[in-house]
Amino acid sequence: MTETATEFDVLILGGGSAGYAAAIRASHHGLSVGIIERDKLGGVCLHYGCIPTKAYLHAAEVADSARASEKFGVKATFESIDMAAVREYKDKIVDGKFKGLQGLLKMRKITTIAGNGRLVSENQIDVDGTVYTGKHIILASGSVSNTMGLTISDKILTSTEALQLDYTPKSAIVLGGGVIGSEFASAWNSYGMDVTIIEGLDTLVPNEDPAIIKQLTRHFRKAGIKSNLGVFFEKVEETSNGVKVTLADGKEYEAEICLVATGRKPNTENMGYEDVNIPMDGAHVATNDRLHTGVGNIYAIGDIVKGKQLAHRGYQHGHFVIEEIMGNNPLKVEDRNIPGVTFTTPEIISVGMTEPVAQEEFGADNVETVEYNLAGNGKSTILGTSGIVKMIRQKHGPIVGVHAIGDRISEQIGEAQLIVNWEAYPEDVAHFIHAHPTQNESLGEAAMMLNGFPLHA
Ligand SMILES: Cc1cc2nc3c(=O)[nH]c(=O)nc-3n(C[C@H](O)[C@H](O)[C@H](O)COP(=O)(O)OP(=O)(O)OC[C@H]3O[C@@H](n4cnc5c(N)ncnc54)[C@H](O)[C@@H]3O)c2cc1C
Repeated sequence: MTETATEFDVLILGGGSAGYAAAIRASHHGLSVGIIERDKLGGVCLHYGCIPTKAYLHAAEVADSARASEKFGVKATFESIDMAAVREYKDKIVDGKFKGLQGLLKMRKITTIAGNGRLVSENQIDVDGTVYTGKHIILASGSVSNTMGLTISDKILTSTEALQLDYTPKSAIVLGGGVIGSEFASAWNSYGMDVTIIEGLDTLVPNEDPAIIKQLTRHFRKAGIKSNLGVFFEKVEETSNGVKVTLADGKEYEAEICLVATGRKPNTENMGYEDVNIPMDGAHVATNDRLHTGVGNIYAIGDIVKGKQLAHRGYQHGHFVIEEIMGNNPLKVEDRNIPGVTFTTPEIISVGMTEPVAQEEFGADNVETVEYNLAGNGKSTILGTSGIVKMIRQKHGPIVGVHAIGDRISEQIGEAQLIVNWEAYPEDVAHFIHAHPTQNESLGEAAMMLNGFPLHA
């Protein structure tokens, strides 16, 4: 709803996952809400992140299925990727969700204020010359690609430009082997492109458990995705027919395009935050553990707060601050137990501590781990996927980490996060019944292994 009101109970700067979740929750409590957005409601996740990339990755899965069809007795052939059509498929999904979100906010009588916002006092935001007031202010201005000083062009792209390609390049260099870089590398490889990942650290997806990293690295190598690990890039130049990347050790790589996937930085520049004495931690907004900035009634949520840059963390932050404003004393949002999914082929899920983190926390002698091999899981064999579920418990204590890799494993994150966040013991989980034949059984089997009595291992 676009209205002339300029005073609200809650005024939110940024209409991404974090901002709109706060807006909706505030409306549930009957608060008047204004949400300021200079681009499109839904933010990065809906328009340039989660949803479009997962549509691209689904197209990749379809391509892989066509290639592998004969293995399943189905006669089909993979011809090529029509990138313009993939883009159209992606755009339709995004457009539909965007319309749905706009309708939802309208239905909840949330006022959308289109324009560029700037914090001008403890309870005011200026939007292109009009000043809006909020009894409570929530900063949710999100994040932008960290381009490492590179000039973005039609050959040197961030994820945003990469999602707009209407042709299929023959080859690509992906700078950065984190989640975003690995997901693009995986999709593009399935599209038939020749992909090389350049990662300055020693491993791909460095935040994952070592056992998962090992599996992904092997899968990528087998799939033909090349990588150069442990050396940072020094420069990226455009050439007559593409790009050339030079590494710190002098090695050179050439390809048709280069994706810069070297992380994302908080979008906090020129927002007026410092002028109002909002405390900063580098480029992040600094808050206490209840997301309050220490200034007036101003909170900060989502990617501008240091921690995991994930949409569902933003949603949870949004809900949290509204419950806090309502005086409902909500549970703190702990970064440690926020689940994560990497939608590569094969997919990765993780929640809680990795083995090294658990060992550091409890001491190596006080940690028990098991790795359940998906070879023992009927549904995984039907799908033709290999992989593992790794479960970590504190000795005589609860399960503190669940990590898994395998095609289609992303849907298992639901139970994995319940196990860790409810601090379940292996003997509890082992007792519950997991339907057969599903990949979900592999979580039950891993718990049974930790409990000493696996069925299919
Ligand atoms: C390629 C990619 C893939 C991703 N995949 C996943 C995934 O699969 N799962 C997942 O959980 N996360 C994923 N993410 C991360 C996820 O998109 C972010 O964590 C999430 O969008 C953060 O939400 P936010 O509300 O904090 O910020 P944003 O989504 O960045 O929203 C901030 C909003 O504020 C607006 N804004 C900024 N400044 C102003 C201003 N001055 N005035 C008015 N409006 C302003 C912006 O236009 C934007 O809409 C992905 C990100 C990328 C880039």
